[in-house]
Amino acid sequence: MSRFWSKTLQQLTPYTPGEQIQIADLIKLNTNENPYGPSPKALAAIQNNCNDSLRLYPPPGSDSLKETIAKVYGINNDEVFVGNGSDEILAHIFLGLFKHEAPVLFPDISYTFYPVYAALYEIDTQLIPLDADLNIQINDYMAVPKNGGIIFPNPNAPTGQGIPLAEIERLLQANRDSVVVIDEAYVDFGAQSCVGLIKQFDNLLVTHSLSKSRSLAGLRVGYAMGNASLIEGLERVKNSFNSYPLDRLAQAGAQAAISDQAHLKNTSQKIIDSRNQLVPELDALGFKTLPSQANFIFTSHPKLSGQALYQGLRDQKILVRYFNAPRIDQFVRITIGSDRECADLLRALKNLIPA
Ligand SMILES: *Cc1c(COP(=O)(O)O)cnc(C)c1O
Repeated sequence: MSRFWSKTLQQLTPYTPGEQIQIADLIKLNTNENPYGPSPKALAAIQNNCNDSLRLYPPPGSDSLKETIAKVYGINNDEVFVGNGSDEILAHIFLGLFKHEAPVLFPDISYTFYPVYAALYEIDTQLIPLDADLNIQINDYMAVPKNGGIIFPNPNAPTGQGIPLAEIERLLQANRDSVVVIDEAYVDFGAQSCVGLIKQFDNLLVTHSLSKSRSLAGLRVGYAMGNASLIEGLERVKNSFNSYPLDRLAQAGAQAAISDQAHLKNTSQKIIDSRNQLVPELDALGFKTLPSQANFIFTSHPKLSGQALYQGLRDQKILVRYFNAPRIDQFVRITIGSDRECADLLRALKNLIPA
């Protein structure tokens, strides 16, 4: 605390990302990074752009990247926005599209950056509890008389549980006068994308990230897809904040990564297969794992708290995430790693579970 801090700053509780610590042979399963690495074409594109052109500012609108995204998803160029990670896009959404009289709605158990942005921009929120099985229930959102926007991930984080496209369509139908943001950071690992609905609903915005399924967390690129008027709104915020959020290397790497759909499919399928193999093995140890459509699982054991699992794994050089919060303090969130890492995880868990 300092006397120089604004009132807003004094009241902020910043987001805490998963630990990024450097310990030799640590198995890092705490921030949903991808074990398989980015497309080799993306790496080549980044290397090819490491040249004298870096003395020039990058294209401010990232037009070439937007064109590639539009082509891959079958939408128009003006229906695409790009940002420095989808987190930055979420920040612009809160400021530009969510700051209204009525509260913004999101699940009580969800991505913990949402309440941070709301506090930063002084936006009212209303948390909608997940149901007893930790699922999102659309009727609970529809029951609130007025909202300034709705946001949730599909599949949700940290639960990994998705909801069907028809449910999102039902929500959009009933909520035409405020923006619904579906955060599809994990959609490539098995959930249904709602990008196909953006032509039908001018209040739908879908965000994607290159950090998870495209294995480029270090490059910081995300994108949003929606009606051109929503995209124009985000451009206005961006151009009032930072004209060049994506550097030349990021634009080149992202464009090549998004073009390489084969790499995305292969690596995502490997992760889905590992997840499908890991869950029954955890069942056999007495774990209860929520059905996941993401590159992580949310799992609990009747005999050990989330914190005990976290600490017990950490002592064996495996890093996972637990959330010291009501209803989920028995759980840990574990990223699906390589097969080798999954095997090491199982071995470590066997050491912890009392016979
Ligand atoms: C990882 C994550 C993001 C942020 O992704 P970046 O593109 O790395 O900023 C957004 N939403 C959810 C739910 C996430 O888990």
